[in-house]
Amino acid sequence: MHRAMSGRGAHDGAASSRRGVTGITCDVLVIGGGPAGLVAARETARANPSLEVVLLERDRAIGAPVRCGEGVGSKGLEEFISASGAGADFISRRITRVIFWAPDGTEVRVAEGDVGYVLDRTRFERALATEAGREGAELRVGTEAVGMVRENGGWRVSTRGPAGDGTIAARIIIAADGVEAMAGRWAGIDTRVPSRDMESCAQYVVSGIDFDPDAIYLHFGESIAPGGYAWVFPKGIGIANVGLGVVALRADGRPARQYLDDYVGKMFPAGVKTSYTVGGVIVHPTIKRTVADGILICGDAAHMVNPLSGGGIVNAMKAGRLAARTAIDALSAGDTSEARLKRYHEAWMSLMGDDHVRFYRVKEALNKLDDSFFNSLARTVERIPEQRRTLGRIFAHALVKHPLLLPVIAKYFV
Ligand SMILES: Cc1cc2nc3c(=O)[nH]c(=O)nc-3n(C[C@H](O)[C@H](O)[C@H](O)COP(=O)(O)OP(=O)(O)OC[C@H]3O[C@@H](n4cnc5c(N)ncnc54)[C@H](O)[C@@H]3O)c2cc1C
Repeated sequence: MHRAMSGRGAHDGAASSRRGVTGITCDVLVIGGGPAGLVAARETARANPSLEVVLLERDRAIGAPVRCGEGVGSKGLEEFISASGAGADFISRRITRVIFWAPDGTEVRVAEGDVGYVLDRTRFERALATEAGREGAELRVGTEAVGMVRENGGWRVSTRGPAGDGTIAARIIIAADGVEAMAGRWAGIDTRVPSRDMESCAQYVVSGIDFDPDAIYLHFGESIAPGGYAWVFPKGIGIANVGLGVVALRADGRPARQYLDDYVGKMFPAGVKTSYTVGGVIVHPTIKRTVADGILICGDAAHMVNPLSGGGIVNAMKAGRLAARTAIDALSAGDTSEARLKRYHEAWMSLMGDDHVRFYRVKEALNKLDDSFFNSLARTVERIPEQRRTLGRIFAHALVKHPLLLPVIAKYFV
């Protein structure tokens, strides 16, 4: 098992040894090696090579296990990494259309063009990690942050890793530790999620099935995925991530996996399930406070997922980049106080966070509608010629059908 994969990274305190992990100090400590943390580490090291940047990842490999449908929009992805050329082996499939299935099975094809990609997240995160390492960040895999205390204007983080227990002192922390979000809590930040905004997801990789390999499918219905939706995201011809998310409060005590087994049994009875995963998606707007003295929180840890779609990969990377920039500025100004770091929160809210508040309100309004609304909407939209069918037009029809949505849209989209 490797401990320090690469990079310039940390330096040892006078009374400690590098091997024993104890007494290490660095400028920026990133907790969590998902998209948010990897981009934060890469951008920090790239922007200021004199900074010592260390990233801790609890799992024994960056990018595994995969707990994700792996779908991303092309524009968002390409802000961070090129999706073409020899290095882009992390693209499983290019997606050119979106197909919605209404609860009664009515099919609505929407976008045609450059929709996005289904990633191979293990390779994707490995590619980001390689770039972070090349820029000089030190990646410590299999090393978990287990607690932290304020010390000398920064933080001292306790760690547990292959070489045993240790500590790392850092001038500033970027917490990117995903849905569990312990680092934020240790810093006194409220990262709790209301149970109505936590989706439990389950997913199989299913092979030997028949579907359009250039499309992603989103399937709605109270009996299919209460409070969420089911997805089919192609990994290749005849093979797809087939998953769904449910809000436990609306799921009649049945776990996501039961809904998924029913779904796969009905939709793909001949499919072969080759892997299984579960995970939580926080469909809640950004937490009210994403910074405290010496710490910035980004990605799922700060609830930065799009609450309508549940997509969080690109958001996490955007937040990681913003956190990196803010951390660098704060360190060069010699001021890592909450008062200074607040500019990260403000920048995030105007970049994405305010939109998420709007999407959340739309989600709440949609939650009040039942299957018959979506069935009749799908039948109306079906009548729009396919080349004129845009998400905007679908929304317009939704408004006509259900005035309940009107105040939400008028207030937030007009
Ligand atoms: C089933 C499912 C399907 C999804 N599908 C999609 C999709 O299709 N498209 C999309 O955009 N989003 C999807 N998401 C959401 C997406 O996976 C997340 O939004 C995204 O991974 C967030 O990135 P992150 O870096 O914030 O967190 P994560 O990717 O969760 O990374 C956090 C990392 O921190 C590590 N960590 C945690 N605690 C510690 C600690 N104490 N010390 C050290 N390391 C720690 C974890 O091991 C993990 O590697 C899905 C989520 C689920 C569960």
